[in-house]
Formats: sequence, C-alpha cells, structure tokens
Amino acid sequence: MSTKQKIVVIGGGFAGLNFVKKIDKSKFDVTLVDKHNYHTFPPLFYQVASSELDPTSICFPLRRELRKHNCHGVAFHIGKVRKIDVAAKTISTDYETTHYDKLVIALGTTNNFFGNKDLIKDVYTLKSTDQAIRIRNEILFRCERAAVEPDNEKRRRMLSFVVIGGGPAGVEIAGAVGELKRYILKRDYPGIAPDDLSITIIEGTDRLLGTMSREASDTALRDLNQLMVEVKLGRLMKTYNDNVITLDDGSTIYSEMVIWTAGVTGVPIEFSGTDYKAGRGGCFPTDQYCRIEGLEDIYAIGD
Ligand SMILES: Cc1cc2nc3c(=O)[nH]c(=O)nc-3n(C[C@H](O)[C@H](O)[C@H](O)COP(=O)(O)OP(=O)(O)OC[C@H]3O[C@@H](n4cnc5c(N)ncnc54)[C@H](O)[C@@H]3O)c2cc1C
Repeated sequence: MSTKQKIVVIGGGFAGLNFVKKIDKSKFDVTLVDKHNYHTFPPLFYQVASSELDPTSICFPLRRELRKHNCHGVAFHIGKVRKIDVAAKTISTDYETTHYDKLVIALGTTNNFFGNKDLIKDVYTLKSTDQAIRIRNEILFRCERAAVEPDNEKRRRMLSFVVIGGGPAGVEIAGAVGELKRYILKRDYPGIAPDDLSITIIEGTDRLLGTMSREASDTALRDLNQLMVEVKLGRLMKTYNDNVITLDDGSTIYSEMVIWTAGVTGVPIEFSGTDYKAGRGGCFPTDQYCRIEGLEDIYAIGD
C-alpha cells in the first residue's frame, strides 16, 4: 500500500499533461483522467478542418506521452468527469468513482452559445478533433456535391459558408476556407468557379483579433480580403433559422454551413458536498498557488 498522497488530475490537455510530466512522482501517486485516450493540439484544429493536416498529426496517445516523458507509475483512466464530491474527496466518471487527496482541474473550455441552445444542432464548432473532422467532411462533401450540380443557384447555396466570431479560431478557419476559394478550387474542382463559393466572417466588435495588437487586426483583415473573405465588423448574429442568419441591424445572410467560434466557457462540472459555484464563464478564481478559493485541496490550471 502506498503511503504517498494521491493527486488526481482531470484533463490531459496542455495544462494537465504538463503538470503530470513535471510533478515529482517520488512524492505523490498520480492519476490522470481524460474523456479521450489522446492529447490534442488545438491550435491546429483549423488545419484538420480544412484538410491541410491529417488528424493523427495533432493527436497523441496519452499513454505514449506518459511513457515518453518517464511518467512511470502515473495511472491513466479514461472517463468523462461528471461530478466532484468535495465532502467525500472523490470524482465520478461514467465508469468509476475515484478518491483523491489533492485534485487538479484542467478541463479546459467548451463552446458557449450564450443560452441559445438551438444553435448547438444547427452550427459547426471547432473545439475538438472530432468537431474539426466533422467540419472537414462537410466542406469536402459540399465541394463534391457542388461539382456535379448543374443549377448555378443551388451550387452557390451549397457553398455558402459563414464563420461567426473574429477571434483567432474564426480568423484561421475563415482564412482556410478563403484559401480553398482562391487557390484550391481551380486545381481540385475545376468545374466550380471561385465566385460560386462565398465565405463571410462576422465579428461583433470593430476589429478582428480583438485581444491582439492593432497591427495584428489590420494584417488579418488585409489577408482575409486577399483571400476573398467578406468581413463584417460590428455586427452580431441574432438568429439562424432555415439557413438564414439575421444580424442585429436586421440584415440577413443565406448560409448552409455556419461555423461558430464566438464564445467559450469553462467545462461545466457538478460539485456536491459543498455549496460552491464556479464563477462567471465557468471560471474558478484561484490564489497564487492555483488553489480554488473556497475549496479544500482542489486546484485549477490552464484555460
Ligand atoms: C481552434 C483553437 C485554436 C487555438 N489556437 C491557439 C494558438 O494559436 N495559440 C495558443 O497559445 N493557444 C491556442 N488555443 C488555445 C489553447 O489550445 C488552449 O489555451 C489550451 O489548449 C488550454 O489548455 P488546457 O489544458 O486548459 O485545456 P485543453 O487543452 O482543452 O485540455 C482539456 C482536456 O480536458 C479533457 N476534458 C474536457 N472535459 C472533460 C471531462 N468532463 N472529463 C474528462 N476530461 C475532459 C479534454 O479531452 C482535454 O484533453 C487554441 C484553441 C482552439 C480551440
């Protein structure tokens, strides 16, 4: 029987995996829990979505990562964490309940639809490898389908893409679809004219990449324009029904494929044995040691 304290880390993304690599395993027993058995590299999701990269280029088996980084003795458990019982010091997945002495929450973020639940089924998102593959398959199918469509109007409708959100992910995926329009169509789909494909990006504030420098915003705008991406700034999407997007100024855009990158929120998790509630956007306010304020022996790292 080990006398070491047990650290359970939930989430094997950038934060969780790096934590597990660095923590002194001679002092703690460590268990890593993730809903997937692989680690991913989110910055390149858009390249998978645009068929520029194979999914295996950005997915790395967690067990192999642990072995490669000499994390001998670190246990990996698969499971989607549903609940943390603070009083019992356990976490529960669909498959088991596991005890911890110290818990590290590293679950990252998920899509935020700002309460508009209907959007989930109507739009495409880019927060995981499977969501990126779904986008890739849909874009490829639409190009193939359009290539054999004789009716000009129907072909244009099939290739009407809109990206909601002008942050990094939105700019990247809009640019990738722009590259398809500008460079790839004429090579791979000679029967489709570039003007048959429309790609629009809609951003609520007055500039793209709002968290970056003004120079980065201006460069992104210029590059997207060169890629024939239509950029609409200072506009919010209000509704999306029957393939029609209505903006806050009342104008409408027809789109059969909407990619939503407009918001993120902390992965929702249920706490029991406490009246603790996560903060705004699912955030966990912490102290300088990443300890969650108001909870014992629970830490939060990463997004
Ligand atoms: C499209 C896109 C592009 C990006 N581009 C950049 C970039 O260019 N530069 C940059 O610095 N950052 C970029 N980021 C942000 C960067 O990816 C994140 O900051 C980083 O991944 C955060 O690390 P994390 O460990 O907190 O979360 P993640 O890396 O998201 O890891 C969370 C882990 O938790 C697991 N998990 C989630 N829910 C559960 C659950 N309930 N139970 C069990 N496991 C669960 C997931 O499977 C995942 O392995 C991008 C993100 C996206 C989505």
